Amino acid sequence: MARSDTKIDSAPSVREPGPGDALVIVDMQNDFMPGGALGVPHADEIIPLLRSCAGVFARRGLPVYATRDWHPANHCSFRAQGGPWPPHCIADTPGAQFAPGLDLPASTAVISKATQAEQEAYSGFEGTDLERRLRAAGVRRLFVGGVATDYCVLATVRDARRLGFDVVLLEDAVRAVNVAPNDEQKALGAMRELGVQTVRSAELAAA
Ligand SMILES: [Zn+2]
Repeated sequence: MARSDTKIDSAPSVREPGPGDALVIVDMQNDFMPGGALGVPHADEIIPLLRSCAGVFARRGLPVYATRDWHPANHCSFRAQGGPWPPHCIADTPGAQFAPGLDLPASTAVISKATQAEQEAYSGFEGTDLERRLRAAGVRRLFVGGVATDYCVLATVRDARRLGFDVVLLEDAVRAVNVAPNDEQKALGAMRELGVQTVRSAELAAA
C-alpha cells in the first residue's frame, strides 16, 4: 500500500531540486528590509533561509536568479509622480542593493525590473529577459522565495504559471506587506489555486 503522501512516480520531488529546476529570489533589497524605505515586516528573517537555498542550488549546478526593483529617481510608482509608494530601490543607491548576508552565489543572474520612469513591474518577468533566460537554460520549474508575498512574489508566480512553468513556493522564505490584514492569506490562496506546490527551506537543505 502506497503511503498517502507518495507522489506520482514521474513527478519530481519538491525537496530535491535537479535538472530543469531554478531558484528565483524576489526583491531581497535593503529598501524592502525592516527600517528600509518600503520595509516588509520580518523580511530580514528570511535572509539566511534564502542564502541556504541558493547554496543548495549552486552546489547542484542549478541556476539562481535574483530579481530587483531598479528604479529611476522619478519612477511612476513614487508618490511624487502620483504612485502608491514612497521612493525606494533607486538604481545605484544603497537602498537598491541586495540585503547584506544574502551572499548570493557568484553565478547568480540579476534581473532588474521597472528600470524606466513610466514602467512599473511587480513581476520579475515584466519587461525583463527572465523568460528567455529560463528557456535558454532549459528550466521548467521555479522555486520562489523573497518579498513581498502579496505583491512581487505573487505577480512573479502568476506570470510563471501563465508561461507554463511549474512553481514551488518556499513557504517559510517569503514575507508579506499586508496593507490589508489578510493580503498574505489571499496571496497564498491565489497561488494554491494556480497549482503552486510548497516546500520549507530546511527540507531543501536537508535533501
Ligand atoms: Zn518598486
